[in-house]
Amino acid sequence: MHLIFGGTFDPIHNGHLRLAVELRERLGVPRVALMPCHIPPHREQPGTSSDDRLHLLELAIGNEPGLHVDPRELGRSGASYTAESLRQLRKELGDQKSIAMVVGTDSFASFHKWQDWQSIPDLAHIIIVNRPGVDLDPDSEAGRLLAERQAKEAAELEASPAGLCFRMNLPLLAISATGIRDRIRSGRSPRYLLPDRVWEEIQARQLYGLKS
Ligand code: ATP
Repeated sequence: MHLIFGGTFDPIHNGHLRLAVELRERLGVPRVALMPCHIPPHREQPGTSSDDRLHLLELAIGNEPGLHVDPRELGRSGASYTAESLRQLRKELGDQKSIAMVVGTDSFASFHKWQDWQSIPDLAHIIIVNRPGVDLDPDSEAGRLLAERQAKEAAELEASPAGLCFRMNLPLLAISATGIRDRIRSGRSPRYLLPDRVWEEIQARQLYGLKS
């Protein structure tokens, strides 16, 4: 199974990294692709450039063999639409390969607002990770999609190329990129919420409104 974990990663933090490791182990996949978006269509624009976010992501992953970066969205101009990325990947990997993308319940709740969202289940499975404090309304588009396509076991995802939704409860660290950006802007330390190498680079490049 080809597993993609997309996000703004503004900046990458230990909550993202731990989630990627937990997913890899629980789903038994060799690697997880972290796919940073260039221009997120549904939220405020990132606090730093795509190049900086990519660089921080690469530093965070280092030599960890179970994680890698898929920079495809950074190479496209305009908004980063997941459906387009999945279509590209499907072409590259062929019709039979199982592809799954990971979303938090926070993102999945507004799934019906994503560009061309109806085509996404034909392209990939969707793994929905519960985030504390975000419930999924069973009467929403996302809730209905989940009910119609829900897989009972992770093994089902490997057995077909696309089309299923799978909800997972994983231990999540209470870390958000928003909290990290706020800390930096207000002169407080984000240390231990993100890898040291990432924090050192943020300081070296004076990102996120860091005051020297
Ligand atoms: P922001 O605070 O800027 O919204 P974020 O920390 O939520 O950022 P994103 O880049 O928006 O990070 O998230 C990418 C993906 O990672 C989303 O699917 C989101 O649900 C998930 N995610 C974010 N924070 C955590 C965390 N602490 N633990 C597990 N997953 C997380």
